[in-house]
Amino acid sequence: MTQASPLDDVRPQALVAGIGEWIAFETPPHDEPHLRALAELAAHQARQAGLRTEFIPLGEARLPLVRIVADSPSAQKAVLVLAHYDTVHPLGSLERNRPRIEGERMFGPGSYDMKAGAYLALQALAALYREAPPARPVELLLVPDEETGSRLSRATIEARGRDAAVALVAEPARSGGHCVTSRKGTGFVQVTAMGRPSHAGVEHAKGRSAIREIAHQALALEAMTDYAQGITFNVGRIEGGTNRNVVPERASLLADFRVVTSDQAERVLRLVGALAPVTEDVKLEVQAGLNRPPFERAPHVEALLRQAQRVALRSGFPLDEAPLTGGGSDGNFTAALGVPTLDGLGAEGDGAHTLHEHILVASLPQRLRFWHGLLRDLAWDASS
Ligand SMILES: [Zn+2]
Repeated sequence: MTQASPLDDVRPQALVAGIGEWIAFETPPHDEPHLRALAELAAHQARQAGLRTEFIPLGEARLPLVRIVADSPSAQKAVLVLAHYDTVHPLGSLERNRPRIEGERMFGPGSYDMKAGAYLALQALAALYREAPPARPVELLLVPDEETGSRLSRATIEARGRDAAVALVAEPARSGGHCVTSRKGTGFVQVTAMGRPSHAGVEHAKGRSAIREIAHQALALEAMTDYAQGITFNVGRIEGGTNRNVVPERASLLADFRVVTSDQAERVLRLVGALAPVTEDVKLEVQAGLNRPPFERAPHVEALLRQAQRVALRSGFPLDEAPLTGGGSDGNFTAALGVPTLDGLGAEGDGAHTLHEHILVASLPQRLRFWHGLLRDLAWDASS
């Protein structure tokens, strides 16, 4: 049974139109003018409901992180909602995955990851705020650089996370509508080898090949993959050398790794830090770090999950947990701070990061009811 709410008359067509408008603004990575255009639209929609908005310019490009606040008379810790409005899609993708409806599905770049989720969260917040100020503040952060690792947004997300009672992340729902309660941590390794150049024909023995060294290091890193423990290493880029007939002086690789726990992260970084050259007279330079700490399923997530499950049932669908996923999100930052975090609460669909990306139209009204109900429970009806 679903509970009556002021959103009961929201039709899929209205949501499709609203989300379609957001999709029509292409928001490729690090493209300030295009990002800003959607940021302005979102802020305008927030202000129409009386919500307070703030633009936080990030980095040299001044990418706008939009902070939308439902102020509360109380000084309780906030409900933090995280969403990103950048997409992986380069400019022109709109032509290649034209926004359209085919049967149950609405297509468009960034529809599923994650303009629909961001839009629904904002609409729910706006609807609630129009009625009354919340009993505890709610903050929605619209992040402009999540798809490139949130390098610029991280400090703001963590600062706002420290003031939050819970964090809700509007990333796409997983297959079957499941939410996310754990994610692997993501890291990088960059290795540069400096060898000794020589003429490949005349003085081959004098040379020390940086490419040969990097090949050894690539194999050493890939060998750290341990599927049983959930640890993966991927050497994703390799470059070096100048010409066929020159023993290469310089080569480098870039690898990605994923870990399940912070203990694993420490261990992996220790191993990577201990990488040593295999070839005599070759120097190695290693840089490594965690882009996103692991989002481990903490016991305090349980209560939040149960609450969300009750709201989901009232909204017309069951909410289960997805198994551990290798993909990171901004939820990794809040979870690692110890803030109870529930992720993957956005729209249902498929094809994230592809040109067949789409959302399921029929899921939109119930997802809006869900956001409305969950925010109301957590912030408007909050007793403590
Ligand atoms: Zn995303």
